[in-house]
Amino acid sequence: MSIEDLLAGRSVVVVAAHPDDETGSAGGLLQRLSDPIIIHTTDGAPYSLADARAAGFERREDYMLARRQELLNALEIAGIGPDRLRPLQFADQESSLHMEQAAACIAKILKHVRPGAVLTHPYEGGHPDHDAAALAVHLACASLPSPPEIFEFSSYHAAGSTAAIETGRFLPGQEPGELVVLSAARRESKRRMMDCFVTQRRMLHQFPIDSERYRRAPAYDFTQPPHSGKLFYENFDWGMTGERWRHLAAEALQSLGITTAAL
Ligand SMILES: [Zn+2]
Repeated sequence: MSIEDLLAGRSVVVVAAHPDDETGSAGGLLQRLSDPIIIHTTDGAPYSLADARAAGFERREDYMLARRQELLNALEIAGIGPDRLRPLQFADQESSLHMEQAAACIAKILKHVRPGAVLTHPYEGGHPDHDAAALAVHLACASLPSPPEIFEFSSYHAAGSTAAIETGRFLPGQEPGELVVLSAARRESKRRMMDCFVTQRRMLHQFPIDSERYRRAPAYDFTQPPHSGKLFYENFDWGMTGERWRHLAAEALQSLGITTAAL
């Protein structure tokens, strides 16, 4: 059975870092899932107002509300109502500072929902919030007696040793995952979903619309870099380096008494 069919047949909790990640990475699949619960770890609005201002907003709160509305509009196209959302509301670019707390919130939701699968970001150095979501999911699952199986959608990471972005693929040298080619109808709906994210057009434009990739999550050692060389997010002044992120990850693991071998 394909991973897509398997996920479509199970109850799924999706854990995405930002409102739009679920659409860029899994907008086609979302149309097939029956009543998924979607957790966003961040509210999509950084304390730095650079992104907000670039989108025409002077206040962080207004940018956050605009992104929330974009998300609701997009999910409506996939037949997913606002009652399915469980926002954790850490500030964008800050969730790496709250990974234990995020893991506890996710564990609580998983305990309540008891899904057959949880679908999230890979650990790949694309955005610190994406990696934080991945770690929080692995920590949450490690804390449960019978955790759901963890699956991943492809997000984005550095393209080789360049500062360019690579979307729609997992890191080279790893399990490439299952390529899902979307039908014309699902492609059209995904395009309409993507169009809802007016403030994120530039980023979403870089995601493939005709296909998506999924895989079972590998075991990770989050205290090691996801790949050699510069991480994609180290190209930006977001107050986070790979070294600092791994230090925060080690602290979260240690405080929860979980060894990296368990993840
Ligand atoms: Zn994101």
